[in-house]
Amino acid sequence: MASLSEAKRIVVKIGSALLVEKAGGGLRAAWLTALAEDVAWLKGLGKDVVLVSSGSIALGRGVLGLPATELALEQAQAAAAVGQIRLARAYEEALAPHGITTAQVLVTLEDSADRRRYLNSRATMEQLLGLGVVPIVNENDTVATDEIRYGDNDRLAAQVAVTVGADVLVLLSDVDGLYDANPGDNPDARRFERVERITPEIEAMAGDAGSGLSKGGMKTKLMAGKTATAAGCAMAITQGLNSNPLKALEKGAPATWFDAHGDPQAARKRWIASMKPRGAVSVDDGAARALARGTSLLPAGVAAVTGAFGRGDPVEILNAQGHKIGQGLSRYTAEEAERIRGHRSEEIEEVLGYPGRAALIHRDDMAL
Ligand code: GLU
Repeated sequence: MASLSEAKRIVVKIGSALLVEKAGGGLRAAWLTALAEDVAWLKGLGKDVVLVSSGSIALGRGVLGLPATELALEQAQAAAAVGQIRLARAYEEALAPHGITTAQVLVTLEDSADRRRYLNSRATMEQLLGLGVVPIVNENDTVATDEIRYGDNDRLAAQVAVTVGADVLVLLSDVDGLYDANPGDNPDARRFERVERITPEIEAMAGDAGSGLSKGGMKTKLMAGKTATAAGCAMAITQGLNSNPLKALEKGAPATWFDAHGDPQAARKRWIASMKPRGAVSVDDGAARALARGTSLLPAGVAAVTGAFGRGDPVEILNAQGHKIGQGLSRYTAEEAERIRGHRSEEIEEVLGYPGRAALIHRDDMAL
């Protein structure tokens, strides 16, 4: 899929060098205004859009008057704390005139490694996108210590793309794609239009050229590409410094497009099916038929609950005859599931004493 207009859900990574002036560390406000037009255009086409934006450290550094050299971790964290608040506000102010609501989402590497946190952040993102919001994601640099950091937003953006099941990830960069040699010192270097697969030969071509302000280089971009494409998400690297880079990309601006392998949902479902179940729910015949039609599993259709599972744990789905018909991630603990089984979704709050999600297992979290 070498196109934004065919995508349903798009994650755009914005590097620090695009958003923040090299000299002085001020915001590139006109560029951001134009980017907001691009986002509004995609939203107008009915796309879900997530922005993964760097720039907190670069912005904070300018405000605090810290040197342009490599910062110590504590300095970078302080700069991020100062810069992030400005970064989020800048996006909010740029997108509000288009009637677009923004949200700030700060994540760490652990949020994707830990399954419960992963599922929770996924559910939050899903809610936000369902409400038409454009989440502005960054790493939570202020709390993420070195060992638990992504450190670069290329890989973070890929993880976000996988988490939300995006079909396209765009890395807006200061280079317009992947070259077979460093274009800076080799005039004959050729850009790849399309990369079907990221092979070791392709990886060997990526020098590690960060641009000072950002942590990412071509290596982290290819790592991002491997994560995204393996989960069914196509990826584009394109130059983002000029105004309206997303519209330009759609019109065929220079870029390297990486092919997706499989579709995002299928990859996720394979992952769910491969997990060791912590329990089981037995469903009645009506629910089994509904599941086969592609619906979520509601508590009303559950006849029995076994095992001791927590929220987000994988559970087997058994039919009335006791045969396994699928597996999914439960949105309730075994104890909660036992209490709400057989009840209509509207009754959940009354039974539990607190509100909960309508489905016991959402169809997106289920492999049949
Ligand atoms: N999270 C960092 C920031 O917002 C950027 C990391 C990167 O350069 O990729 O400043």
